[in-house]
Amino acid sequence: MSMKLSSKIELLPRLGKTTAKRLQYLGIQTIEDLVWYFPFRYEDFSQIRPIRDVQDGDMVTIHGQIEIIASRRSRRQRKVLVEAIINDNSGQMKVVWFNQPYIAKTLKQGEYVYFSGKVEVNNYGTQLLNPDYEKEKAHQDNVHTARIVPVYSLTAGLTEKQLRYFISLAVPLIKNIEENLPPEIISTAKIMSLSDALLNIHFPKDYETLKLAKQRLSFQEMFIVQYLIKKARADLQNNNSIAMKFLEKPTKEFVDRLPFKLTNDQKKAAWEIIQGIGQEKPMNRLLEGDVGSGKTIVVALSMLNVARNGYVAIMMAPTEILAVQHYKNFVKLYQKEKLSIGLLTRSRKEINGEKVTAKKLQEAIDNQEMQIIVGTQALIQDKVKLKDLGLVIIDEQHRFGVKQRKTLIDKEQNLIPHFLSMTATPIPRSLALALYGDLELSIIKELPANRKPIISRLVEEINRDKAYQFTREQITVGRQAFVICPLIDPSDKLGVKSVTEVYERLSKDVFPDLRVKMLHGKLKADEKNQIMQDFYDKKYDILVSTSVIEVGIDVPNATIMMIEGADRFGLAQLHQFRGRVGRGEHQSYCLIFTDNTSQKTLERLKFFVSTKDGFALAEKDLQLRGAGDVYGVKQSGLPDLKLADLSDINLIKKVQDAAGLFIEKYKLKDYSALERMVEKQEITLHFE
Ligand code: ADP
Ligand code: MG
Repeated sequence: MSMKLSSKIELLPRLGKTTAKRLQYLGIQTIEDLVWYFPFRYEDFSQIRPIRDVQDGDMVTIHGQIEIIASRRSRRQRKVLVEAIINDNSGQMKVVWFNQPYIAKTLKQGEYVYFSGKVEVNNYGTQLLNPDYEKEKAHQDNVHTARIVPVYSLTAGLTEKQLRYFISLAVPLIKNIEENLPPEIISTAKIMSLSDALLNIHFPKDYETLKLAKQRLSFQEMFIVQYLIKKARADLQNNNSIAMKFLEKPTKEFVDRLPFKLTNDQKKAAWEIIQGIGQEKPMNRLLEGDVGSGKTIVVALSMLNVARNGYVAIMMAPTEILAVQHYKNFVKLYQKEKLSIGLLTRSRKEINGEKVTAKKLQEAIDNQEMQIIVGTQALIQDKVKLKDLGLVIIDEQHRFGVKQRKTLIDKEQNLIPHFLSMTATPIPRSLALALYGDLELSIIKELPANRKPIISRLVEEINRDKAYQFTREQITVGRQAFVICPLIDPSDKLGVKSVTEVYERLSKDVFPDLRVKMLHGKLKADEKNQIMQDFYDKKYDILVSTSVIEVGIDVPNATIMMIEGADRFGLAQLHQFRGRVGRGEHQSYCLIFTDNTSQKTLERLKFFVSTKDGFALAEKDLQLRGAGDVYGVKQSGLPDLKLADLSDINLIKKVQDAAGLFIEKYKLKDYSALERMVEKQEITLHFE
């Protein structure tokens, strides 16, 4: 039987159907998948200790000969015990295993064996409890003992020892894995070869080598990201955009009509965007600004300029509710501008506040009657034929990447619209630039002056009733409240359980007389939207929800944001929740709860309640937790990396240099080994 990297794992000895299923659950189907399944930590059993030196509580490896081994049933617990006496010439000690009767048959008197485990000294003397063991074999490396031992995440029914064994069988094939980076990159960046790195990530020779292995694998993850970005960009650079003239007069008139003065940050961001769309080179910009910082006006200014240049601006929102909200906003904002504004979602089509048919809407597009169209993903789906697109704005939807942008290319004229993405997620400039390289960035930091800061409090458990009482008072005078619940149980990915618990308690015990509603990820999109709409329409007083409402509808009447299990959220995320209130004229409050009493946690949460600057919170979060955790890989569109740390600026710089070199040399011609690696590591970019 010859085993290849592409062979199914079922080819491995001692791997039956059931085990194969379990491995599949971990995403492992082939031998190669095993190779790419990395340990999440290591146990250091590399030092072999003489029995004479071991002490209570030590994690040790002993290399000794078995003098006696036997199994018996323990009297009290009726468990099977296997007991052995081992001798290593420095001394003797007892080894005990519970409930593993087969060991008495596997290990035999007189054999030399490695044992790795924990030492316990008690009335019975010194013993080693439930150690991993491994017989001494000539010319073969140890897997489970007497080395730095890898520890993998498991799934039910699979043991560390099994998985480690299977991976050890795959290891000899690692040398057949093709190097995916060109030799000049490897030598310039001074990194380990791929096969050495893979070998040592599983069975490291020593800690130094392990570090180099991790470095190499992080490097390549990051390299793939940079490669994908550059490649995607290069693709788009073959197209030009229309340079939109800055039309000072209508812009100024529009600004003058606003009931407020723009903040300095708004002016600056608006100007950056207007200049960006004034170029023939396609703009690719990210507009960041805290919730309530007034991004809408900023983009409204640029849309106005596009419209006055005779082109169409579209804005895409992640949900229908949000799209409708933007649309209504724009209809109002542009009242005096004589612009036609359309709405296009799956179920709703409107022009200037009036319902129309899909056909009518298409006609308006074809006849160039509409300058601004707001909608959902439905906007870029095949059925509608957009025309004369000058600017595409994506609100809170980072998954709109190059692929989607490409669908907007006007093939006849080889034109692509300018592109602006907006988000309330504060991504520190350093990180954004490192990750997205030449992506242009506009940041609104300052909130409009009239904004009442949200009062934030970390509520101690003894004051919970007071918080509820306060909430009740707010509701009595007509306000509404959000209650956010964390995911408690990792198996409950949609958070149904924790929300249900809180919902039951609030609706039955605490607020039986109020209208309490529950929202979680398991509901269908339509149901979720309906609940949000009803909440907006004041049909409920309290909305108990998972983080699904994080980016969502504006409910100016809501003044209370309660967050349960606040320690389970990152600071940036807490800040997003907080931004759901304080959107109207009323003073708003953010009340957070935790049952975690660790000093570190409390400090983190206190920092949150005392800081209102989202960027400061994000920066702090980044230091404390790393980028993937802070931005939640899925929703932010950050690449999902196993090893590389997105806040490791040094690594990013090194990789960017290398990627530059690579692009120069290979001119982005497909480098097949790298392409395969892109697939293998399943790194996708949602937002380039
Ligand atoms: P976000 O950045 O969250 O999208 P919006 O654009 O929705 O913020 O603005 C929030 C609210 O603040 C809106 O009601 C808007 O009219 C108002 N607003 C925007 N800019 C200013 C300003 N400079 N001064 C006062 N209010 C403003
Ligand atoms: Mg907004």
